[in-house]
Amino acid sequence: MMTENIRVNSPNVKYTETHIEAEYCYHTTAVCRDGDTLKVTPSVTELVLRTERCVPKLGVMLVGWGGNNGTTVTAAVLANRLGLSWRTKTGEQKANYYGSLFQSSTVCLGVGPDGQDVNVPFRNLLPMVHPDDIVFDGWDISSMDLGSAMERAEVLDWSLQEMLRPHMSHLRPRASIYYPDFIADNQASRADNVLTGTMAEQLGQIRADIVDFRQTSGVDKIIVLWTANTERFCDITAGVNDTAKNLLAAIKSDGEVSPSTLFAVASILEGCAYINGSPQNTFVPGVIELAVERNVFIGGDDFKSGQTKIKSVLVDFLISAGIKPTSIVSYNHLGNNDGKNLSAPQQFRSKEISKSNVVDDMVKSNPILYREGEKPDHCVVIKYVPKVGDSKRAMDEYTSEIMMGGTNTIVMHNTCEDSLLASPIILDLVVLTELCQRVCVRPQGSDTYQSFHSVLAILSFLCKAPLIPPGAPLVNAFFRQRACIENIMRACLGLHPQNHMHLEHKLQ
Ligand code: NAD
Repeated sequence: MMTENIRVNSPNVKYTETHIEAEYCYHTTAVCRDGDTLKVTPSVTELVLRTERCVPKLGVMLVGWGGNNGTTVTAAVLANRLGLSWRTKTGEQKANYYGSLFQSSTVCLGVGPDGQDVNVPFRNLLPMVHPDDIVFDGWDISSMDLGSAMERAEVLDWSLQEMLRPHMSHLRPRASIYYPDFIADNQASRADNVLTGTMAEQLGQIRADIVDFRQTSGVDKIIVLWTANTERFCDITAGVNDTAKNLLAAIKSDGEVSPSTLFAVASILEGCAYINGSPQNTFVPGVIELAVERNVFIGGDDFKSGQTKIKSVLVDFLISAGIKPTSIVSYNHLGNNDGKNLSAPQQFRSKEISKSNVVDDMVKSNPILYREGEKPDHCVVIKYVPKVGDSKRAMDEYTSEIMMGGTNTIVMHNTCEDSLLASPIILDLVVLTELCQRVCVRPQGSDTYQSFHSVLAILSFLCKAPLIPPGAPLVNAFFRQRACIENIMRACLGLHPQNHMHLEHKLQ
């Protein structure tokens, strides 16, 4: 069952050699206040969604390729592609993609002849890149080859590392942009693989690297993803980074531009989607404007992998159950290089900002529990403890008010195995971004197709601090984010949103 193809049997869905074309009724509901009454008006827009069926050969360039995430995701894809299995102290382990939304979770397609749900792998809904087929390349300020860098990361079992080393050792990160002021001083000893020259020359080199990878690897399409150290925030300054034109001029005159922003600009100018897996404000207004002008996707920020993922589930559960969280206190300690970098105040601040707004939409959605402007106390602490390595510990205390002034306290200890949680998210981010590049929409009757907005908000499910187009509602709640991806993909097949009603089983 797991490998079955899906074919929709409907006059509204057409399969051509090149496309899946679905006629779809998009239902929305407008609400406006009329005195004491809320007037609710349902409406329907008839759309045609078109998905290209041909899946390209995808190249992914990682900034920070030699780090824990960079080496782990590369190793995991190789291990899966090679079908590796290895001995651990508890038995044989096979390579897999657990933790990936598309590779390891399922969606309910409908109901079978026996009246029971039929679930299929998420990845089978639409034609998507398989992670086994992704070709990796990338940059790092550390010159260490990927085999040794995997060892430095201390993430994977030793026997697996031994099998992978011959496949990893010849992979070497390209030289990168290093401005010491943006990451912690304690990273300086890694920086032996850095570009020199003016900012414009460095930008030119990154663009040349992208072109070189495209030409030498034979990939059809490239996505660039930042999984390098967390940078400090950049000031948003009029005349420097507030518009695309000013940003390009600032680069020419060596102004205040972060390495991650330079990577984003290089990527956009080469027509490659750019994803930011760290919390810093890479996407200054000038970058967003440039992406929109060039019609290139950008997405981020900050992988949602551990503590924040739990938070976006747990607070969603509590508030939607009518329980009122009043304080959320989160402690983390981690011992990997990310933790070392985050032990510096400015880099910690970037992470703190990224982690802090995650419950706001859920709080705002419930005026029965929260008065205008009221929020739970929310505190995040991160400490560097080298001994725990990549095995991050996240401890949370959720205190909530329940009926009649009662108190409910949930305390949680979460061992996060950071890079093993982040790697499948990196794969989902690039697979979903690539799919979105093949989907377009037109209103019935029009012959002009529209693509998704350059700020690819559908990636929100995978990000701690989702980047969204101006004016769009921000959603952090886990189940709404997941349903958004599932239902947009169902729409591409002319299927209505998953409604979980099972009405046929509830009637007499
Ligand atoms: P890491 O420190 O092991 O790897 C980062 C790599 O980036 C290092 O190899 C470093 O040498 C390199 N680097 C630094 N500046 C660079 C530059 N300008 N250009 C190219 N390379 C550069 O960290 P990690 O554990 O792999 O995490 C990577 C990033 O992902 C961090 O910013 C972290 O906050 C973010 N993140 C991680 C997780 C997770 O692992 N679960 C979750 C959310 C966000």
